Amino acid sequence: MEDCIFCKIIRGEIPCFKIYEDDSVLAFADINPISDGHTLIIPKRHAQNIWEIPEQDLMAIHRASKKIASAIKRALNPAGIVVLQLNGRGVNQVVMHYHLHLMPRAQDGPELPVSCWELKKGDMDRIKEISEKISSEIS
Ligand code: 5GP
Ligand code: ZN
Repeated sequence: MEDCIFCKIIRGEIPCFKIYEDDSVLAFADINPISDGHTLIIPKRHAQNIWEIPEQDLMAIHRASKKIASAIKRALNPAGIVVLQLNGRGVNQVVMHYHLHLMPRAQDGPELPVSCWELKKGDMDRIKEISEKISSEIS
């Protein structure tokens, strides 16, 4: 895609700190890191989101995520790593080229806001009804 910022990174028109590359994916450091080691993994073929991305590219990204998460573990010995991926402007996806975030939390680092929420008991009837609605749409 001509105007896509991540496609420009893939084409080398915008620089990045490359962490990993193979035929299908590129991984590089996020320029606004939520924590040290914050890494983005993207497909080389442009797709906006989970609905658009071909399964093959999705698998390639997740294969790479295991490799890179292992490298982060060895390199930084974090307390843990959040794996996060946003789909749609309604959930604050900013760059409309599919990307998987790997966000390590340092041993003595602050809680990551994306991995910290209050647990409130749900309404079981509502959970059941919504689960059935979703599963009936699985093809
Ligand atoms: P999201 O779309 O999931 O909200 O996040 C987009 C992410 O891309 C942000 O974490 C942002 O810091 C990162 N980002 C945006 N533009 C660039 C860029 O030009 N280079 C790099 N390395 N990261 C970027
Ligand atoms: Zn793109």
